[in-house]
Amino acid sequence: MAATAPQFSVEFFPPRTETGRGKLDKVHEELTALGVDFFSVTYGAGGSTKEGTKNIVLDYSATGSKVAPHLSSSRQDLDVADDLLNIYRDAGIRRLVVLRGDTPSGQKPTDTGFYARDLVEFVRRRSGDYFHIKVACYPDIHPRTANYALEIEYFRQKIDAGANSAITQYFFDADSYFRFVDSCRQAGADVPIVPGIMPIISFDKLSAFSAKCGAKIPEWLSRRLAGFGDDQAGLRKYGDEVVSELCDRLLRGGAPGLHFYSLNLSGPVRRIWESIGLSGRR
Ligand SMILES: Cc1cc2nc3c(=O)[nH]c(=O)nc-3n(C[C@H](O)[C@H](O)[C@H](O)COP(=O)(O)OP(=O)(O)OC[C@H]3O[C@@H](n4cnc5c(N)ncnc54)[C@H](O)[C@@H]3O)c2cc1C
Repeated sequence: MAATAPQFSVEFFPPRTETGRGKLDKVHEELTALGVDFFSVTYGAGGSTKEGTKNIVLDYSATGSKVAPHLSSSRQDLDVADDLLNIYRDAGIRRLVVLRGDTPSGQKPTDTGFYARDLVEFVRRRSGDYFHIKVACYPDIHPRTANYALEIEYFRQKIDAGANSAITQYFFDADSYFRFVDSCRQAGADVPIVPGIMPIISFDKLSAFSAKCGAKIPEWLSRRLAGFGDDQAGLRKYGDEVVSELCDRLLRGGAPGLHFYSLNLSGPVRRIWESIGLSGRR
């Protein structure tokens, strides 16, 4: 499955405060030292500012880091997306993560008929082959997709529109990833599909976030995590073990890398990184 050396990337979200930004700068420095291949920065997710994405992308890129901005847009805002494409091109950014984007919290999700595949087409029309475009995919199915066959079909449409690779929503069952990759290949969507990895640092937060984004926490894992109660240290230790085992299994099975949802923290990524033997990469 993996034609080239596996790639290891880390996702940040733009902090809302100066203090948060100062902390993230430190996290970026610490994770750079690990040998992360590139950082991605979310766009508008969880109510974060879109200006924040651009600033972080340009600042970290200026330090020599490889950075992939996330980009989403409605049909009406394509001029904003176009401006960003020009800014990123001028800054030498080569990777983008192109998404439809989340409905802002408090608003009811509506189907506007404008999807990530349309934005991928737009980026290709405006920038040709300049950018390596990554898109999102969902081994456990996007919460608003009617069935598995449609999930595969919508993913194929994004690849047909010009996406080069994909990052998955996080999951905890390696088999669901392998099944999804096989189904995509059979449907002709034959691009590298990098597993998105969520460290486990709090059962409550993980449950709330998973309920929102549709990621599945298997019953056995929910039960074990709930059993830790207030023992946060025990939960994190166990979480590190479970996620490290998952990463090992994915890489042994041919996953073309891992993408860590860092939650803007360096500790959880660093612990998993070390535990799966990536420390010697740099
Ligand atoms: C790796 C990753 C990074 C993310 N980064 C961000 C971020 O930075 N900012 C943010 O706001 N959100 C982010 N998200 C969340 C993402 O925006 C949401 O999951 C969103 O609901 C779907 O985005 P998409 O790009 O997969 O959309 P799409 O692939 O366009 O799918 C969106 C919805 O439309 C439906 N659909 C797709 N194509 C069709 C079609 N042809 N006909 C009918 N229905 C269709 C799908 O079933 C799905 O319900 C990220 C998710 C992942 C996995």
